[in-house]
Amino acid sequence: MKAMYYDAFEKTPEIRTLPDPSPSENGVVIKVEATGLCRSDWHGWMGHDPDIRLPHVPGHELAGTIAAAGRGVVRYKVGDRVTVPFVSGCGRCGECRSGNQQVCEAQFQPGFTHWGSFAEYVALDFADQNLVHLPESMDFATAASLGCRFATSFRAIADQARVEGGEWVAVHGCGGVGLSAIMIAAALGANPIAIDISEEKLAFARTLGAVAAINTRQTDDVAGAVREITGGGAHVSIDALGSPATCFNSIRNLRRRGRHVQVGLMLAEHATPEIPMAQVIGHELEIYGSHGMQAWRYDAMLAMIVAGKLDPKRLIGREISLDEAVPALTAMDSATDLGISVITRF
Ligand SMILES: [Zn+2]
Ligand SMILES: [Zn+2]
Repeated sequence: MKAMYYDAFEKTPEIRTLPDPSPSENGVVIKVEATGLCRSDWHGWMGHDPDIRLPHVPGHELAGTIAAAGRGVVRYKVGDRVTVPFVSGCGRCGECRSGNQQVCEAQFQPGFTHWGSFAEYVALDFADQNLVHLPESMDFATAASLGCRFATSFRAIADQARVEGGEWVAVHGCGGVGLSAIMIAAALGANPIAIDISEEKLAFARTLGAVAAINTRQTDDVAGAVREITGGGAHVSIDALGSPATCFNSIRNLRRRGRHVQVGLMLAEHATPEIPMAQVIGHELEIYGSHGMQAWRYDAMLAMIVAGKLDPKRLIGREISLDEAVPALTAMDSATDLGISVITRF
């Protein structure tokens, strides 16, 4: 199979021919039809993720067709159109048995713990527990775009923050996660506020449901601006970027008993950010993480998509080839693309 491959961190990946994978007893091999490019792939390539062992094939946001299935797989068959959450649970540990596969103790992450989907084929373990059938009406590129950012945002907004109609939701960072969060919060009847450094992204966020926008390049006091717009602070705030400044502002701009959800990754030198802990205590703030979403929760998200209340296709920027993905990956940290890039040609 053709695949993107690297044997050292920060070294330009190459496109290579590697042996086709075969399925494990309880796993499948997927013929990858579409796979999204994500900042986590860039973090992995930089060496920020301790799960990655070299040599490596990245890629974790995927959709495709089952090409082969292990003998133990009962719910899926060759030819099925599927996607998978980027965190797949083992199905056996305590977290999986309580329905929290997104924090499984023995999790399988294509593109991190195992070789991923920037390839013609990818092998996935624990297929019965984690695969998700695609609705007839959904194309592969849209399905691939759900696996990480959109699903993580859905869990952050709907499940972790428990956003309700009429609440103010501040969204710090309008990349893939932030724009998804704005679309989902608006669909649930909340009032999202888009916060970013780019006028172009803020304008796009408004078309997705943001009722107000704050350009942090033109605002010294971001938390104060949110408090003013919301009459006292946001009920819910999301750090969708992952930086000490956005994390701090996201907690700072909450009203009393507000909920902060950290979705943007905090790795390397950002791993221990400053947090206004006196405010967390005095105002009884709630601080959550959000890490992917369980396969069984896809039902609710897919139902909203099929019903037309969510339209993740609008967040797709470019469809690119596997070759074009190499420079796109290595330049990811400085990319200013509106919308996400999805590899659809191999
Ligand atoms: Zn598990
Ligand atoms: Zn991702």
